[in-house]
Amino acid sequence: MMDYKLWIIDYWFWFGLTLIAVSALMYYFVYYSPVQQEDWEKIPTLKEYLLKHPECKMSNDENAKCYACGSEKVTFQPLTPPQDPKYKHYCCSCGHKLFKRK
Ligand SMILES: [Zn+2]
Repeated sequence: MMDYKLWIIDYWFWFGLTLIAVSALMYYFVYYSPVQQEDWEKIPTLKEYLLKHPECKMSNDENAKCYACGSEKVTFQPLTPPQDPKYKHYCCSCGHKLFKRK
């Protein structure tokens, strides 16, 4: 005969393990997504961006113009939770990814 008590322990053990695994995976994909990380590494910082596109410099040191269409409507999108702010700046007019700011 199967030990009922043991079966329950076994059941909760696997249930808990699955729950932990799923939340760890979700956390990993939301905050430390390798795709997002790689994407982030590829984007130049504002300093690098302005060295590459000096014509995009604006009076405001925190921002720059779009190199692709010359638009000044550049907005940013937070990538991470507010405790670790990383912002991706992109052009509102043509959608080009421009630079990053931490
Ligand atoms: Zn643009």
